[in-house]
Amino acid sequence: MEPLPQGVRVRLADGTTWQVPVLVVAIGLTPDTGLAAAAGLALHPGNGGIRIDEQGRTSAPYIYAAGDCASQFQPLFGAEMRMESWQSANEQARIAATSMLGLQAAPAATPWFWTDQFGCNVQMLGASRDGMRYTWRDTPPGDAASPKFMLLGMLDGRLGHAIAVNAGGDLRQLRPLFGLPVNEYLARLCDAALPLRQIVREVQAEAAGRTASLTTN
Ligand SMILES: Cc1cc2nc3c(=O)[nH]c(=O)nc-3n(C[C@H](O)[C@H](O)[C@H](O)COP(=O)(O)OP(=O)(O)OC[C@H]3O[C@@H](n4cnc5c(N)ncnc54)[C@H](O)[C@@H]3O)c2cc1C
Repeated sequence: MEPLPQGVRVRLADGTTWQVPVLVVAIGLTPDTGLAAAAGLALHPGNGGIRIDEQGRTSAPYIYAAGDCASQFQPLFGAEMRMESWQSANEQARIAATSMLGLQAAPAATPWFWTDQFGCNVQMLGASRDGMRYTWRDTPPGDAASPKFMLLGMLDGRLGHAIAVNAGGDLRQLRPLFGLPVNEYLARLCDAALPLRQIVREVQAEAAGRTASLTTN
């Protein structure tokens, strides 16, 4: 691969040469689990990762795994998978370390993913699932080269997924709402003229009130 002033020139294994304006490399990732396999740890037959339970324990006592190499059941997706993201690696490490100390770790935070693409910061909270309906959080017209917006994914009246482009601050404010019923607040959540902080407080107060009334009843 040879970088050019405009684009890149690529020579393939068969000798063909291509000159392209943009090259997207999508090569995937294979976990190096040779050591784990030699130690007799259970590996997932599909994704090749080291199988761990919710506390980060492998199939062998006293051996833990975390991060890209680990395969774990993800309740949000309803499937076992390797979650290749910075936050997941950190959360799995926290939970494994707590578990090693014989303590009960708090569950992993809602999955969060970020990336920077073509000058845009893209962040996601939660995950997309079948049947999810997306609504646009409108924003005042801005710079086309640096748009700012959010998409909110709802399932069964609850917020389950949010995608933010150049709106990471707004996304962070939504975190406490994940899993809470927000249907009746959706129109306001999607109105970018309204500050999120106030709406988030209202939803939380209502959820706390519901819990208190359940406790007293
Ligand atoms: C190109 C690319 C872009 C990415 N972009 C994003 C992004 O935008 N957002 C996001 O959330 N995540 C992103 N990720 C994923 C993120 O980087 C990983 O999920 C995260 O780094 C996983 O952490 P980890 O500790 O499990 O593994 P790693 O960060 O890979 O760390 C493993 C370490 O172990 C070392 N190691 C391996 N074998 C041995 C051995 N036998 N002995 C000693 N040391 C060893 C390695 O050298 C390495 O330092 C990206 C990954 C790639 C490859």
